[in-house]
Amino acid sequence: MSKVIHQCQANVMSGYHTHQCMNTAKVERKEKWYCGIHDPVAIRQKDRARRDKFDKKWSIKNAQWGIKDIKNNIADEAIRFINSNGKMMELAPLAELVAKYKTAVKNLEILKNG
Ligand SMILES: [Zn+2]
Repeated sequence: MSKVIHQCQANVMSGYHTHQCMNTAKVERKEKWYCGIHDPVAIRQKDRARRDKFDKKWSIKNAQWGIKDIKNNIADEAIRFINSNGKMMELAPLAELVAKYKTAVKNLEILKNG
């Protein structure tokens, strides 16, 4: 039994010219043959994986910046409280910020593990 060997039908740039890829084809997609490198389905999957990885990294960065902001707000609020020498009895904003901070840290952990 002989097996037909196909050549990859993708066009490849080399300098200012394009030529057909020299690799042996592995898969057929819509009546065209492609090697492992030029398989459009594999390329799409790779792109998606790269995008997902980038999105996750970006989300984590954003969450970390958010936490940094909350920390700064907590510090500001704490200093305001200390400087008021007990005149500022209202601790609610500080407690609120601490709760916000705890939630943000928890969310960051979920992002990192997800
Ligand atoms: Zn190819």
